[in-house]
Amino acid sequence: MRGESGRAASTKKELQETLDRKNTVRAFLSAVVHVFIIPVFILVVHFLNIYGDFSLKVKIYLAVCEGAQIVFGIWGYYIISRNEMDKRVFYNNSCFFVTILCIVVMAGIDRSMTGSFLIYFAGMVYAALVPVMSRGMRKIYVGVFAAGSIVSVAVAKPSGRAVADIILIGIAAVIVCETVHNYVTEYVRTGINLRAKTLTSEKDPLTGLMNRRGLDKNAAVLWPYCSRNSTSVGIIEIDIDFFKKYNDRFGHPAGDRCLKLIAKSIKQSARRSSDIAARTGGEEFLIFVQGMSEKEIIEFAMKIRSGINDLKIPHAYAGVSNYVTVSMGIACCVPNAVNSFDELYEEADKALYMAKENGRNCVVSGDRIYGRMKKGLATVISM
Ligand code: GH3
Ligand code: MG
Ligand code: MG
Repeated sequence: MRGESGRAASTKKELQETLDRKNTVRAFLSAVVHVFIIPVFILVVHFLNIYGDFSLKVKIYLAVCEGAQIVFGIWGYYIISRNEMDKRVFYNNSCFFVTILCIVVMAGIDRSMTGSFLIYFAGMVYAALVPVMSRGMRKIYVGVFAAGSIVSVAVAKPSGRAVADIILIGIAAVIVCETVHNYVTEYVRTGINLRAKTLTSEKDPLTGLMNRRGLDKNAAVLWPYCSRNSTSVGIIEIDIDFFKKYNDRFGHPAGDRCLKLIAKSIKQSARRSSDIAARTGGEEFLIFVQGMSEKEIIEFAMKIRSGINDLKIPHAYAGVSNYVTVSMGIACCVPNAVNSFDELYEEADKALYMAKENGRNCVVSGDRIYGRMKKGLATVISM
């Protein structure tokens, strides 16, 4: 239950963060477009002589709008380029508040504009810009819009027709705002859920490691990438020794706990961002590494092996040790057009088989066997 609500909360947080990120891009683009639109608007109005000459009030108003949009354009550029998530919300709100106020003031400042197609159009465009805010924030916007309209009406004392226009614009803006908000939120939510589902289907629920499907997907991308860069790759296949006996002796739930502990230990050892650790089967794990020589991979495998030995999970019935141990098979190559991930996997599988054949609790690479720790040092035995 707690897991469910935790997941719901993280989805909600991710949803809001995604929306906030989208808001910043919209606010920035809106500011940039306005920086150009305002002078174009002035020129068009001037040359077509739509409203006669602008009054001083309108000129000041337009200059303030232009200045504000330039500031928002530069500010937005810095926020996006520096990816400052915590400053986004303040930026988004400031930008949209000022833009909405501009349109409300415009409706009041120039009575000749109310009732024109232009003001309706602008009202709808701004309403469509607001929607991706949280519900509480949108209520404030609607409040500001309503208050601004009332002030405009009171100050400019427009005709009955203009008042009706302002009210109509307000109502239409709220409807547009809600519709677009629902559409955008649903769209983003679907994307997040889909990604979460894909990730779940590529993850082993018991250990949290990638499953075979996730491994195959990553390998399909990494193999050609490493081939292009001539980066060497390696597979370490890990299999718990006598795990059936462990289950038989301690029970399946204890077996699951043991698998989790071993997976955790593997995760702790495979810490490089390029390491890919997966649970490929019941008690089998695999690590896919890049950019390491065979020697380095063997040392890495020995580190994982001693990490698991250090867990000291009692398993007196194993016959190899008093504790749970693992056997490992290593294979490495430089990917090219001829070889493949599956072939390398097969080679690692053969090495793992050799490790099992040669007494378990050891690491096999090529024709050499490493392990059976003596004073912490690996014994190398040629086969
Ligand atoms: P070997 O040393 O040769 O690898 O012997 P083994 O007993 O480890 O190998 P075998 O393949 O015979 O048995 C694997 C056992 O792993 C069988 C099964 O009981 C156990 N197993 C597989 N998946 C799970 C799981 O999800 N949970 C638990 N608890 N046990 C599992
Ligand atoms: Mg096995
Ligand atoms: Mg096994």
